[in-house]
Amino acid sequence: MASAVHNSNGASDRLYAAIGEFLARHRLSVDPAHYAFAHKVLSDERGPLAATVARLTDGGVRLSSRDIEELGGHAVAGTPAGAPPEPSSPPQLTVVADNKVQSLVARAQMQVEGFSDTVRAFHADTRGFGRDLRASRDAIRATGDSSAIDEVVRMASSMLDRVLSAEAKLSEVTQEADKLRHELEEARDDARRDPLTGLPNRRAFEDAFTTALTERANVSVAICDVDKFKSVNDRFGHVVGDRVLKAIAEALRSGCDEHLVARYGGEEFVVMFTGLAPADALSTLEGARAAVAAKRYRLRETDAPLGAVTFSAGLTAVEPGDTIGSALGRADRLLYAAKEDGRNCIHIDQ
Ligand code: GH3
Ligand code: MG
Ligand code: MG
Repeated sequence: MASAVHNSNGASDRLYAAIGEFLARHRLSVDPAHYAFAHKVLSDERGPLAATVARLTDGGVRLSSRDIEELGGHAVAGTPAGAPPEPSSPPQLTVVADNKVQSLVARAQMQVEGFSDTVRAFHADTRGFGRDLRASRDAIRATGDSSAIDEVVRMASSMLDRVLSAEAKLSEVTQEADKLRHELEEARDDARRDPLTGLPNRRAFEDAFTTALTERANVSVAICDVDKFKSVNDRFGHVVGDRVLKAIAEALRSGCDEHLVARYGGEEFVVMFTGLAPADALSTLEGARAAVAAKRYRLRETDAPLGAVTFSAGLTAVEPGDTIGSALGRADRLLYAAKEDGRNCIHIDQ
């Protein structure tokens, strides 16, 4: 008995440590919601949830808020204990946007309920009207009573009033529904766009990449990471850092033509090239890299030079059987090699 208790304490110690490690690895705050999710994943290591998490995080990819929500967990905005705050990291923004979508969905639900009430009331009226009409018809047939005709006329005009008022209500409800639909579309777009750079965010990128993996030929993916960006913030402040990020985002977007450029998080961008041979993807990205490196930034206020800001990248061609995790994992390793190689360069598969 005593040893069983001891064993279970050992197991719960291990589970506790594993949960801590899981939260740190996925940069999740020690919020009860995150803890509960990690507990669910780790308490059944061979279960379907653990298998899905393993698949999503294959190649060292971090779980996104969306992954957690989709797996039945609840993502909470905030930074992990002890970690430096990331000023506009997409997962936090995604949670904000999700809240907006949720409130719109709640409003839409209320609206639909209001709409069904209107329709139900209208049905009740028409049923009553039909019943009264039949009764009056029978009375006219049976007695030839002309007062019954007056009654039919009265009923018909009262019904007409109700029809008109129901129509007015329905048109009001339809207008509100159109407005809600529009707001919902905007909120959906917000949830998929990075507000600083205006680029698609990680969520939008992952959706597009997932589709391209199965449907498109000649797909390559690159992870681009701004070089020594911390020092831009340290020397000139975050506001200037933000402006530089926006300029780099724009240069990458215009340098990569119609290919998908997204902000993956922090000072990392991802590019998905479709329909290009790997060598052409490389020369396109190389053009964008050279354009960014050639820019000379200046402080808006004093015109003092900031110098050049460059990025390094890892570019890999998607292979049959690749998952998001395996392709991005490869690109990430190539990016690391590019950093090791002195930065401001692109590494590709050999
Ligand atoms: P490396 O060349 O090795 O990539 O060096 P680095 O300094 O770019 O890398 P590191 O990961 O040490 O620092 C990244 C910095 O990017 C730290 C973080 O504060 C900054 N950063 C991330 N997101 C933003 C943002 O939205 N705005 C600003 N201004 N800075 C950001
Ligand atoms: Mg980085
Ligand atoms: Mg960097």
